[in-house]
Amino acid sequence: MRQNGEELRSILDFAADKATAYREEIAARPQRAERSYAEMCQDFAMPTPEKGCGGLEVISDLVARAAPGLNAMTGPRFFGWVIGASHPVGVAADWLTSAWGQNTGNHTATPAAAAAEAAAEGWLLDILDLPRSASVGFVTGATVANMTGLAAARSAVLRRAGWDVEADGLIGAPPVDVLIGDDAHTTVFAALQILGLGHRRVRRIATDTAGRIDADAFAREIDACDGPVIAVAQAGQINTGGFDPFARIVEAARGRNAWVHVDGAFGLWARACPETVALTEGVDGCDSWAVDGHKWLQTPYDCGYAIVRDADAHRRSMTAAASYLPGAGADERDPSHLTPELSRRARGFATWAIIRHLGRQGIADMVARHCRCARLMAERLSAEPDVAVLNDVELNQVIVRFGAGETPERGDALTHAVIARVQEDGVCFAGGAQWRGQWVMRLSVISWPTDEEEAMRSAEAIAKAWQAVRSDAVQLAG
Ligand SMILES: *Cc1c(COP(=O)(O)O)cnc(C)c1O
Repeated sequence: MRQNGEELRSILDFAADKATAYREEIAARPQRAERSYAEMCQDFAMPTPEKGCGGLEVISDLVARAAPGLNAMTGPRFFGWVIGASHPVGVAADWLTSAWGQNTGNHTATPAAAAAEAAAEGWLLDILDLPRSASVGFVTGATVANMTGLAAARSAVLRRAGWDVEADGLIGAPPVDVLIGDDAHTTVFAALQILGLGHRRVRRIATDTAGRIDADAFAREIDACDGPVIAVAQAGQINTGGFDPFARIVEAARGRNAWVHVDGAFGLWARACPETVALTEGVDGCDSWAVDGHKWLQTPYDCGYAIVRDADAHRRSMTAAASYLPGAGADERDPSHLTPELSRRARGFATWAIIRHLGRQGIADMVARHCRCARLMAERLSAEPDVAVLNDVELNQVIVRFGAGETPERGDALTHAVIARVQEDGVCFAGGAQWRGQWVMRLSVISWPTDEEEAMRSAEAIAKAWQAVRSDAVQLAG
């Protein structure tokens, strides 16, 4: 069946028009979804289509149904979670990626996709200043990047103990000790559970007020291990932006022949910026790193990188071999050798395009700007009575407690109320989290359109919401 050229153009042009209009309006609209999940479920529900329907009609209907339930994640005043904002240059590259439809398993089948990835691999290692001979797997995000790095770790530490985990699995293998900070990201525990290392069967290391591993506690714990050891460190704690003391962790790990993996989903990008690079000191001494493209680099979803110093361990732990797959020479890079999947989208194109567009300088400037914005917001909010910023704002993360002088319960209630009010107002978006047993508002400054002006406008809106919540509370009490 041949596609009618006019129909093809009408569908793709329509999509481009709608996408452009969406992006043009994003700054002016509320920085949240207008309709809830329950409402969206109703809006999308319809009987299973028995007969097909014209392409343009379907896409038009999709836009109409989805629009009210879209969250303004690409907006300039969106500070929820720690997520990027799909830069338009990445979006354009991503559209072409879909249009080209390359199954990026191996370089023989898709030379352009594999080559763009190989080029982007070199740029990433250069910009993040990690060992240039490391290998980079282009995965869906940091969750899978963590899993991939830890799979390579598992392979290497067991091999040193005389065990081939790829061939023989974990059953009967020497037990592997996993050391991990108490404030590690939940997805690292998910990766451990998928890999058969268990999320409970770990040695959790005490952390300080910023969620950073206590280096002395780490050294004591690793000295108590006597088998293969994997240590997991973190660059950028999701609440505080804290960085583990990598140099000391690596030093203690070397003595035990342990592998150190780093979850640097967003924080590793601090390494790309002269003003923040010192925070990552010693991270290049580790063995594997997980970092996202779809956070601070602003690529569209899904895009993360699994970076492994020992390229052989990386490849060994990920490679699926089959006779019908063109075999790559031992030193030839095949995208599928470095990721869990065989068939996948050509993630290298968007990464290549964004890095080329922003350049090393543009990435550094963006990281510095976001950190500046975070400090400005923290300063503005701390100036309000009874508002406390609970972290040292060294990176892009700010956690804020409202009703700081009140009882813990009142403080929790007030903080919840401010978050709800801010979301309702829609000037900016912020979410909440629990930190050290108390509810806090979390602000992550990580969207490329956010600048000082948008940050200050947002801080004002949050301050106003706090004033309104406080005066409501006083009236209620009175
Ligand atoms: C976001 C994040 C992850 C998970 O990354 P995904 O891209 O969502 O899979 C892991 N660790 C940290 C520190 C994160 O911020």
